[in-house]
Formats: sequence, C-alpha cells, structure tokens
Amino acid sequence: MSDLRTVEAVLAPLPPGMVGDGFRVHNFFPNGYRIGKRMSPFFLLDYNSLVEFTPSERPRGVGVHPHRGFETVTIAYQGEVAHHDSAGNSGVIRSGDVQWMTAGSGVLHKEYHSADFTRSGGPFQMVQLWVNLPAQFKMHPPRYQALAHADLGKAVLPDNGGAVNVVAGRYDDVAGPAKTFTPIELWDARLNAGGRMAFSLPATHSCGMLVVGGSVNVNGTAVPTDHFVVFAREGERFEVVAHEAAIVLVLAGEPIDEPIAQYGPFLMNTHEELQQAFKDLAAGKFGVLED
Ligand code: MN
Repeated sequence: MSDLRTVEAVLAPLPPGMVGDGFRVHNFFPNGYRIGKRMSPFFLLDYNSLVEFTPSERPRGVGVHPHRGFETVTIAYQGEVAHHDSAGNSGVIRSGDVQWMTAGSGVLHKEYHSADFTRSGGPFQMVQLWVNLPAQFKMHPPRYQALAHADLGKAVLPDNGGAVNVVAGRYDDVAGPAKTFTPIELWDARLNAGGRMAFSLPATHSCGMLVVGGSVNVNGTAVPTDHFVVFAREGERFEVVAHEAAIVLVLAGEPIDEPIAQYGPFLMNTHEELQQAFKDLAAGKFGVLED
C-alpha cells in the first residue's frame, strides 16, 4: 500500500478581479499565490466562482487578444461562453463542456458570454487553465478541441458515490477524449453525499484540486467550497470523501522542467522568444479576427 499524498496547502480564494467585463475571477496562481512551478504543467488557474449576471443587450466578455506557447482550457460549470479564434474555430461552451485550445505558434481569440446567456442572464461559474507546452511543441500549429459533456469519459463511483467526468488522462479504466502534449489528468468529479473517490497518481506529478461545489475531505484535510488544494510531490494515494454533494476538479500532470519566460499572453522559454512573439504579432502572423 503506497502512502497518502501530502496536502501542502489549502488556498482560500483571493478577492476577485475582472477579465474584460465578463469574467470575475479569483486567480490562484501564478499571481494570486506564488507557488512557483509546483503545479507545472499548469501555469495559471483563474476561477470564476458562482456569480449572477443580469440580462444584457450587449455580450460581456473579453475582446480580441493573442496567445502563444501554451494551451487555454475552459471548463463551464454554469453559463455559456462563445469563442472565436483566428484559426477559424468557434463554438459555444455550455454547462458541463470543456474547450481545449492549443494556441501553440499563435492565435488571436475572443471570449464572450453566448447570445442566449447574454439575453437571459443567470448563474455563471467557469474555470480557465493555462497549460504550458514544452519547448518542442510551443510552435505547434493551433488546435481546437470542443469537448462536449456527452463526449467526456464517465467513470461511475462505487456505492452510488457519483461520477467522474474524465476530460484528459484516465480514471480507473476510463479515458478522457482530450489530446495533450504531456501526460495530464483533468477530471470533473461530481460526488453524491457520502461519496468516496480513491485513486493513485505518480508522486512525481503535480496535483491540485479545486472544490467547485460543496465541501470535501481529502487525505484527512477538510476543504471548503471555492478553495484549492496544492499537494506536495510526496505520496501517491488520494482519498476524497464528500459529506455533502460536491463538485471537484482534479488537475495533475508531469511537470515540465524548462525555463519560463512569460509576458502577458505569451508563455515561452526565453526573453528572445517573447520579443519574437511581439514582432510576429505586429507582422500579422497571428492571423486576423474581427472584434
Ligand atoms: Mn485568452
């Protein structure tokens, strides 16, 4: 029997900030909490905790902006986001869906509340992750994976404990549909009251857990709603117990052991590559997207 993974910290959500006028996010890292490369390959976690938007005539969101050198992953819990990018991809991310966009060599994109959600308003709850790419894939052509809820892997927990929607990687024998460049697990777990989830991950992999609804006990530590657990790279086994219905996002992966150079929307290895990104953006190499 391997050891329980050590809980390093339970992080409370910091005061939120707005991304454009459509996303009210708590940044857990890299700026909210300075956790260094502890969560690599995950570089950023913005959590739009549950908030109510009033009906509007004009879509709220964030306008055209570039990315290079990594992937953005958007997980919709409540509400709807419409996405368009300069690689010609677009779609609406609805409750339970995930969008996995590889910016790679560079895209322009915009993210707004969908037309329907704009008109109706209502509860809105989202996660956006930035997933770093290793040097050999930073300039990979852009890619877009629209992962509808129905297409996610579904692992059923024993004793009516709930279900794990597998986005990437594998839970037990159930694989997720997302293609990733490095080994990553991303699971949207929906636990019933009394539900238990037990699994193992390599001790060398980064692991974190965001409690999106309800509260859980993980490896003996109580974690309230909207809190993020950072695990040390010690131990392999996880035991999650939900005393009430809970929603938990598990993110784990093999760390990328490379230098990081980041400025705004670019995530590269060196300062020179950042300068090149600005030059290429100015030269129109990220394509065209109407505002
Ligand atoms: Mn973006």
